[in-house]
Amino acid sequence: MTRRKIAIVGSGLIGRSWAMLFAGAGYHVNLFDVTQELVENAIKDIEQQLHALAASGLLRGNLSAAEQLTLITGTKTLKECVEGALYVQECVPENLELKKKVYAELDELADDDTIIASSTSCILPSLFSENLKHRSNVLVAHPVNPPFYVPLVELVPAPWTAPEVVVKARKIMEELGQKPVSLSREIPGFALNRIQYAILNECWFLAQEGILDVADIDAVMSHGLGPRYAFMGPLETAHLNAEGMENYCERYGETIYNVSKTLGPVTRFEGEHLQKVNQQLLDQVPLEKLQEKRAWRNNCLASLAKLKQNI
Ligand code: NAD
Repeated sequence: MTRRKIAIVGSGLIGRSWAMLFAGAGYHVNLFDVTQELVENAIKDIEQQLHALAASGLLRGNLSAAEQLTLITGTKTLKECVEGALYVQECVPENLELKKKVYAELDELADDDTIIASSTSCILPSLFSENLKHRSNVLVAHPVNPPFYVPLVELVPAPWTAPEVVVKARKIMEELGQKPVSLSREIPGFALNRIQYAILNECWFLAQEGILDVADIDAVMSHGLGPRYAFMGPLETAHLNAEGMENYCERYGETIYNVSKTLGPVTRFEGEHLQKVNQQLLDQVPLEKLQEKRAWRNNCLASLAKLKQNI
């Protein structure tokens, strides 16, 4: 019988989300953190989140919130958490030395066929897996926050990750209802942050040049490119915007090349310009209103996720 046990190491924001996603697909989930109190608090929060998801019709899978909760167990030791697991999702803070320490422990505890995936946003998997005896089972499975409403997961192999491990991880992610993409090799920023930083860099440049103010730059995304990109990426968009991609490049290739040559240089986000951008953002959303605005964003993402389920 296929093992259905998942180990989640680190019960913070991302560990909790993974626990809910796995429970939604009917997996038994073991949750571990450095203190029992942290694990207990995480399970209480998961209970509230599962009930809120059920109330808004966004709970995953066929099990009720109460049934999903019974699938999630807090563990007192890493050994208890990881023993016999099919798949480990590591969710400890973004710190290379800490990751190395945790991976050395996981290496001793995992079975020879346990997949070990890191949630890291930007640490290359080769940096914490090189010296492990189970290194061919290690990869990155990078989620996007909040993973319940934003389903992308980037699967990133180290040079020694076995291809079949990536294939198995991809199947598991699909089973959860996430949308995995598999990078052929590790690269700084993976794919999502490389694209995000390219956009951020140009937004910074346009603000610095005084071409648009902060609110109008953000409107270019939220009212222009963003709605389109919620359903279709830039490459397919180009394909549709002419008689196919080849024709698009014939028509617009020269323009794209000439405009691209004028894109802003790579720069550090600091100094006087940072003060100006920051002030405009604070006028829009003061720090004491950040939580409220995050809740609004999550509601919008939930509505979009519902819409995408139905089209
Ligand atoms: P977090 O600080 O909310 O949670 C980290 C948890 O790990 C804490 O509960 C901490 O007590 C626990 N921890 C620390 N040392 C540990 C150890 N040795 N063993 C077990 N648990 C330990 O952080 P987070 O936001 O959940 O981020 C976790 C990982 O996910 C990071 O690598 C981060 O880059 C990545 N990630 C975060 C986001 C995000 O938006 N927060 C998005 C994608 C990926």
